[in-house]
Amino acid sequence: MSNKADYIGRFAPSPSGPLHFGSLVAALASYLDARSAQGLWLLRMEDLDPAREPPAAAAQILSTLDAFGLHWDGPVIYQSQRLSAYADALATLQERGLIYSCDCSRAHIQVMGGVYDNRCRLRRLPPTSGALRVVVPDEIFDFVDTIQGPQQQNLQRECGDFVLRRKDGLFAYQLAVVVDDAFQNITHIVRGSDLLDSTPRQLYLQKLLGFPSPNYAHMPVVVNDSGQKLSKQHFATPLDLQQPTAQLLAALQFLGQFPGLHPDPHLATALPAELLAWGAAHWDIQAVPKLATIPLQSDS
Ligand code: GLU
Repeated sequence: MSNKADYIGRFAPSPSGPLHFGSLVAALASYLDARSAQGLWLLRMEDLDPAREPPAAAAQILSTLDAFGLHWDGPVIYQSQRLSAYADALATLQERGLIYSCDCSRAHIQVMGGVYDNRCRLRRLPPTSGALRVVVPDEIFDFVDTIQGPQQQNLQRECGDFVLRRKDGLFAYQLAVVVDDAFQNITHIVRGSDLLDSTPRQLYLQKLLGFPSPNYAHMPVVVNDSGQKLSKQHFATPLDLQQPTAQLLAALQFLGQFPGLHPDPHLATALPAELLAWGAAHWDIQAVPKLATIPLQSDS
């Protein structure tokens, strides 16, 4: 892609179901951060896993964003159409001897506390068997998150060699996200804190592939009464297309954009476009709570 602006942000939903309040918060935060900087806001469908994607979900996401006034710039990118780019990136790493096959089970890795012990590194399994992992160094990757502050992770000790192509042949999120953020010239990523600990892996892949690293801001994710992230898998209530203003106001509140005040009563009856313009004009990313999670208020 050839667009080079000072600020290019994005929203990258996985079309595994309709958007819910948690997705609205993520979309809104990335949108307002981009618009308040006169930046572009791109849309990418992360549709890499057909078994988890109801056929109408991607189209439904587009019409929901539209109903909420969240209009994106340029064409929508579909990861399902970008498989050759992921294969090329993987081949580059393979040529450098950084990729190996692994037939370890998920249960084995769970026993290790989620940190892979790299046991297949030296086994030289044929490339057709199992998942493909990338070798990570015993090195700290650090960055300053705009919301959550300084972060660091030793990839070998806290993560281990990680999967770039799954056993079922599907490309992993970590590879696709890095290839596409570079392809779309993304400069700023605003997303949920559930992805905070993925960021060092992504910084590492960017370094290996010679891509620039964007700025990162991880906002709190909305959780239900049991502390689970609202998700399509947990059947979170879909957004109500008839009430965009009320839900946008609740999302702005969640993002700390009405500090100590009740929103201007005029906003309660505003159209989504007016509310978004107000939100962009008043956007203060430092007012977003520096928390990993926030429970859903029952009236959101
Ligand atoms: N597709 C991911 C999700 O829906 C978001 C990926 C990202 O923002 O990097 O949770």
